[in-house]
Amino acid sequence: MSKPVFTGSFTQQEAIPEAAIDAAVAVMRSGRLHRYNVVPGEAGETALLEQEFAAFTGAKYCLAVASGGYAMGAALRAIGVGPGDKVLTNGFTLAPVPGAIAAVSAEPVFVEVTDQLVIDLGDLSAKIERSGARVLLLSHMRGHLCDMDRLMEICDAAGVKVIEDCAHTMGGAWRGVPSGRHGLVGCYSTQTYKHINSGEGGLLISDDAEVMAKAVMLSGSYMLYGKNGAVPPVDTFENVKYVTPNVSGRMDNLRAAILRPQLADLPAQIARWNALYHALEDGLRNTPGLKVIERPAEEDIVGSSIQLLLPGASADVIGAIVDGCLHRGVELKWFGAAEPVAFTSRYDSWRYAPAQTLPKTDDILAGLLDMRLPLTFSVEDAKLIAEIIRDEVITALPQAAE
Ligand SMILES: *Cc1c(COP(=O)(O)O)cnc(C)c1O
Repeated sequence: MSKPVFTGSFTQQEAIPEAAIDAAVAVMRSGRLHRYNVVPGEAGETALLEQEFAAFTGAKYCLAVASGGYAMGAALRAIGVGPGDKVLTNGFTLAPVPGAIAAVSAEPVFVEVTDQLVIDLGDLSAKIERSGARVLLLSHMRGHLCDMDRLMEICDAAGVKVIEDCAHTMGGAWRGVPSGRHGLVGCYSTQTYKHINSGEGGLLISDDAEVMAKAVMLSGSYMLYGKNGAVPPVDTFENVKYVTPNVSGRMDNLRAAILRPQLADLPAQIARWNALYHALEDGLRNTPGLKVIERPAEEDIVGSSIQLLLPGASADVIGAIVDGCLHRGVELKWFGAAEPVAFTSRYDSWRYAPAQTLPKTDDILAGLLDMRLPLTFSVEDAKLIAEIIRDEVITALPQAAE
């Protein structure tokens, strides 16, 4: 009997909902795509999105921007990071995170990750001490949240400001507090592979009036900031409006129109993602030699991707598993491969930063596999994918099964 094969696409997202398409068409018919091009009495789609996202997260202020990377760069700049400053960040994240640090001519200081794929709090404390850095750009990479209470205790005690990269945790929470609400600023991406899709786009939230006023000026609000959807009182801008440069990165009404109906649907979408995630997790748990990452009870997850560990497996064995799965239609990203494929996520791929070594992170990434779970998959698909991975792991690691 031939082995089952999966035929879905790991990069195929769902269609944009009809309500979003209608809203986009209405913006195009109006001709008013620029966020500040509104008629009297009209709020504009971008300002409305800002209000709705502030309400969704519980933040006082929200700014919609051109990308998640832009949001992080604006956040760093708004809190005063400048050339030569050191910024702590995860050794395992995505290229736009160290890129945002480099964009303000600051220097990334990479922190180890644990086998739960979160920042190592012991190493964080040590590196706060050793580097003297007073800013942490914390990446909730692949949706994993660390103990956010403990992290904030460490950072508050050391006077370290926290910016959260929530590209993979929009809709997630730690002990009921939404991701992005622990630090000074939360940054989100609305790029196609994240939780709401406008092709490109980003959102930034904060309760800090001055930081937000600076971010709004940076984004290119001109003197029209009063038209934004969720901004601090106008007098906050008095001190910042002539001394903050315009680094244009606004969102436009077309993208915002596409995003608003998706934001309204997000809670239902999260439930669908988690159903896929748990089907895979259940199908793979107790596979000899393979470890699923048990999620803490404090964490509300958004299972838009899943990570698997093959601790101690050799590169040849992992290569055989990745190839075997690929032949059966299951695309796994292996973070331990010698050359990065499609995108970079390891600290040693970012050679514009001073050379650093993170032995613990190296060990973990050597055995780390990753898979996206687009909502075009069904729970049946997820079960089949789990069966294929399990089968290929057992084939490549027969001794582990004994
Ligand atoms: C996608 C992503 C971002 C932001 O990406 P943009 O493409 O700039 O919107 C930031 N952090 C992580 C971990 C990401 O995956």
